[in-house]
Amino acid sequence: MTIPAAFIGHGSPMNTLETNTYTEQWRRFGESISTPRAIVAISAHWYINATAVTTMAIPRTIHDFYGFPQELSEFDYPAVGAPDVARHLIDIAKPVWIGDDADSWGLDHGTWSVLAHVAPAADIPVIQLAIDATKPLEYHYDLGARLAPLMDEDILILGSGNVVHNLRAVAWSAENQGYDWAFQFDGDARDIITSDPGRIGELTSHEAYELAVPTPDHFLPAVYFAGLAAATGGSVSVFNEACTMGSLSMTSYRLDAA
Ligand code: ZN
Repeated sequence: MTIPAAFIGHGSPMNTLETNTYTEQWRRFGESISTPRAIVAISAHWYINATAVTTMAIPRTIHDFYGFPQELSEFDYPAVGAPDVARHLIDIAKPVWIGDDADSWGLDHGTWSVLAHVAPAADIPVIQLAIDATKPLEYHYDLGARLAPLMDEDILILGSGNVVHNLRAVAWSAENQGYDWAFQFDGDARDIITSDPGRIGELTSHEAYELAVPTPDHFLPAVYFAGLAAATGGSVSVFNEACTMGSLSMTSYRLDAA
């Protein structure tokens, strides 16, 4: 049995508490797959100067945002960790070096805003893989490809970010709307990811790249997904294809291995 992988466009942290067209699709994704043994989450919000994986038995729920309602700051996602899966991941990634984070990070809102809907019971162990900000796109693509064997071991690999993510350009009231350049970049990314994910690096020379990806943190989880998709040769399908607040894309992808 192979568990599908996914990249999910997470958007606002408020999606944790809301039920909307996006979160309904997240819920349906979770209901459509067999129960994974563990979840490996690659969140835009653990973007540091190293590659590391959480190995603690009980990861804390990190509230890494401000300016949102108290209810969100009190949200708890009480999934346990999976130190055995983390150690296995460190092994299969070799010779890429992955550090062992036993006491620093936990689960950030990139992970739990999505898992609140994909796995609402919080009864599946979760680990997070950090995104190394010092590495080039090719490094992340390659590391994503190295994770492919986990899909055959009942492990859900979940990238959480946004293909288009420009907070300076956000128009908070423009729900379910996007700038022309946002739709253009998101659509061209969709064409590549669904047909030939090995070409995802070409997006860095797209005319809208600087606007769509002013910093790489939210885009790189999709690069891990593309690496996985190319390595497995599986089929990629799209859900939640949309832009919102002008400069965020919610477009999400599912990979079913060949
Ligand atoms: Zn985010």
